[in-house]
Amino acid sequence: MQKTTIAGEARAPLAEPDIPLSLPVGDEVKTTTCYMCACRCGIRVHLKDGRVRYIEGNRDHPVNRGVICGKGAAGIMQHNAPSRLRAPLLRVGPRGSGEFKEIGWEEALGIATGWLGRIRATDPKKLAFFTGRDQSQSLTGWWAIQFGTPNFAAHGGFCSVSMAAAGLYTFGGSFWEFGEPDWDHTKYLVMFGVAEDHASNPIKIGLGRLKARGAKIVVVNPVRTGYGAIADEWVGVRPGTDGLLVGALIHELLSRQKIDLDYLVRYTNAAALVIDSPGSADHGLLARGEAGEVLVKDRRTGALIGIDTPDLAPVLQGEVRLADGRIARPVFELMVRRFLAPENAPDAVAARTGIPAEQIRRIASEMASAAFDHPVVLDQPWTDWHGKRHDKMVGRPVAFHAMRGISAHANGFQTCRMLHILQMLLGAIETPGSFRVKPPYPKSIPPRVKPRGKVGDVKPGTPLPGPQLGFVTTPDDLLVDDDGIPLRIDKAYSWDAPIAAHGLMHMVIANAAKGDPYPIDTLFMYMANMSWNSSMNVPAVIGQLTEKDETTGEYKIPRIIYSDAYFSEMVPYADLILPDTTYLERWDCISLLDRPISDADGPADAIRHPIVEPDRNVRGFQDVLIDLGWRLGLPGFTQADGSRKFPGGYPDYITNHERGPGVGPLAGWRGKDGEAYGKGEPNPNQLERYIANGGFNHHELAHEQRYMKFANRAYMEWAHSKGFLESMDRLVMQIYCEPLQRFRLAADGHGNVVPPETHRERIRAYFDPLPVWYEPFEERMVDPHQFPMHAITQRPMHMYHSWGSQNAWLRQITAANRLYMARVKARELNIADDDWVWITSHQGRVKAQVKLMDGVNPETAWTWNAIGKRAGAWALDRRAPEATRGFLLNHLIGELLPEREGGYRFSNSDPVTGQAAWYDLRVRIEKAEGEPPGSSPRFEPLHLSVERAEASR
Ligand code: SF4
Repeated sequence: MQKTTIAGEARAPLAEPDIPLSLPVGDEVKTTTCYMCACRCGIRVHLKDGRVRYIEGNRDHPVNRGVICGKGAAGIMQHNAPSRLRAPLLRVGPRGSGEFKEIGWEEALGIATGWLGRIRATDPKKLAFFTGRDQSQSLTGWWAIQFGTPNFAAHGGFCSVSMAAAGLYTFGGSFWEFGEPDWDHTKYLVMFGVAEDHASNPIKIGLGRLKARGAKIVVVNPVRTGYGAIADEWVGVRPGTDGLLVGALIHELLSRQKIDLDYLVRYTNAAALVIDSPGSADHGLLARGEAGEVLVKDRRTGALIGIDTPDLAPVLQGEVRLADGRIARPVFELMVRRFLAPENAPDAVAARTGIPAEQIRRIASEMASAAFDHPVVLDQPWTDWHGKRHDKMVGRPVAFHAMRGISAHANGFQTCRMLHILQMLLGAIETPGSFRVKPPYPKSIPPRVKPRGKVGDVKPGTPLPGPQLGFVTTPDDLLVDDDGIPLRIDKAYSWDAPIAAHGLMHMVIANAAKGDPYPIDTLFMYMANMSWNSSMNVPAVIGQLTEKDETTGEYKIPRIIYSDAYFSEMVPYADLILPDTTYLERWDCISLLDRPISDADGPADAIRHPIVEPDRNVRGFQDVLIDLGWRLGLPGFTQADGSRKFPGGYPDYITNHERGPGVGPLAGWRGKDGEAYGKGEPNPNQLERYIANGGFNHHELAHEQRYMKFANRAYMEWAHSKGFLESMDRLVMQIYCEPLQRFRLAADGHGNVVPPETHRERIRAYFDPLPVWYEPFEERMVDPHQFPMHAITQRPMHMYHSWGSQNAWLRQITAANRLYMARVKARELNIADDDWVWITSHQGRVKAQVKLMDGVNPETAWTWNAIGKRAGAWALDRRAPEATRGFLLNHLIGELLPEREGGYRFSNSDPVTGQAAWYDLRVRIEKAEGEPPGSSPRFEPLHLSVERAEASR
């Protein structure tokens, strides 16, 4: 048993280098926040004569503590990119022609106000406002609420909503940037489907710590890249079978009785009783007492008592008779039955996952040994939710981290849920040594906010009564009309995707072009390269953006407003371009209301501020949005007398906007004197305080508050006082996810809101309240002999989305992607290194050049995403390697599944959350015999032809 103190090393400053790494290269240094990926590290920008010369990591910053990655250091070339847009543009040629005229901001904003004003005055839902790599969603979402449209979301549905939703519905938090391993104490880390692009520097720093301490790192990923290269063990799982692997690990732990029963009883709903009454309207729901409390059976007295009773000693298996005579069973028993079933045994899943049964058994045994033979005990007293004092914190030093590799499948939600069950069985959430949640998480399970946009919520000239995105817990919360027709353009929160907590950005254009469920008037997008890298099925999306109504001759999507800093592939397909600044020219707010940069020891937020002034006629999108809000008369942006609420633009908003009493975009230095944290009046000097502090604020939790946050009274009281927790109600982690059962009951015809017949079978099958693995849809629907291989993408650690891969320095690392495949498989297919091959899916084919390797699952081929580009876009020459030898797999992925009997086509998404299932792609790979080298398809180069007007400046 390891005894240690809570004072960790993970947050300590990294050792000072022996040699000066940062010689002065300029005459001024300013601190801000990097935007070259989602980590949002602190950076020091060196300037000479007012020009950016060098970027390094900020050693004081809690996210990266001085570490800078290749992307971050190359930000200077992002700032100087030749593809930067220079002025507002109005399309004058057909969509796709790239023919624009330059206009001034007054004209641009006047046009946008005219288009949007008409919609708002008549039918606000005819605006679809979707953002991509937006780091200001608390503002963009709030603007959309003020406008009154239900059709708002960011890119999460395309990216990883299954991961987020699974976590939020299970323990009120998530992996991703919402939690992290306990880097100080973990002894065994397992990473599922993690690429190096996302939580990049923080994970690298953490992994360095683990390696230094000799902790074991296991990487589960079909491809051994990046983190896999430094792992102690690589598990090359077959794509889409992670759930089978996790189920087998659970099977092993249960078989050997290596689980933390005490943790399950104290902190989860393992003891809750599930009504066993087939056919009744509450079959499968949790038994409740008169006051609505979830019931368990007390082992000592045999009485049925509330799950919140202190010192619970519940019955965990066997039939329990309820007061009304019906039968119920504990969740624990149902879970054990599920996972002890023979189909979850390692031998049963070995062939399908590609992982030998012996390896699965050994990993389970290593996890159990780390958790139960080597617990971490911290000499740190704490008080639990019941008020009981504990003199130590005891934890299981097995940590997990997972990302979109397990999420972007049609079975992603249930797979992610299953991984959380594994964590709970090991007692490995929020305990020392395990996975820790970052404040303001955990939230209520799930968070209590409901999506708005029902009939009656959407009215001309009126804000929506609440946010578009939230957490449904019953079919009554769905956004469907009386006939079950979706009320949102992306069909989020409909029977197609009931728990679509992030919306379905990938469905917007296809649905809008078809007018399904209704036509829209204007598509307004920000940083979303939908005609290329952010779409599934690129040729189809381009077709939809340019498709015209045969009778009117008008585009099916009549108006498209787009904001981007660069000439991306999306620009030529829009009608009005609002050019954004680079990240070094703008204000920004990395807010706790949004996706914060906290760590497990305390919440953090940050700003960006202009390091240099733009040398073009561009404006920060957030400034533009605030201006548009006032021009449209949106209440949140307009004073009662009609004047601007935020005349100072975005910095004014960041400082003075209050989402609730005393709660604003930034938590630090609030109150008139700047002494308050979390809640307090707006402080006119708040931004100066942030700038003086290096652009960030980090609040350190007291040691007593740092673990068991879901049950730690000191933490919960503090979090409640800051508005992070809605109430002091107990947070009970959900092994059994009751909201899913409510949907199943609806599919059986119970309740006021029931699914149409076309959806019933699907809801019954996939809304299992206990996690279950099922075969991904594409794999099930295509002929396995015709399409025998998987094809997936990863993002490289040196690039991040398409705006990173245009970077002149980073292009020197990778300017053309290859299709990587296993040597052994290539031999079988008579393919040699450097050969050109055709990759064919049920939807189309793409030609690519092969690179052979060993560290990949033999049934899987993969490539770097976002490298393949369309010539002309991003200021790339028509001979650029990105266009001539690079390729995208997106062309092969369908946003819809093949048609089923009856004609209905479901989206190629997780049926629970709507997460795009782009890792389910099945392909055939064949040598491109006798063909000239070069990738295919080649799209016509894009042009940007701008009529310049001096007066537009
Ligand atoms: S990890 Fe991301 S945010 Fe941090 S320096 Fe690199 S690119 Fe910038």
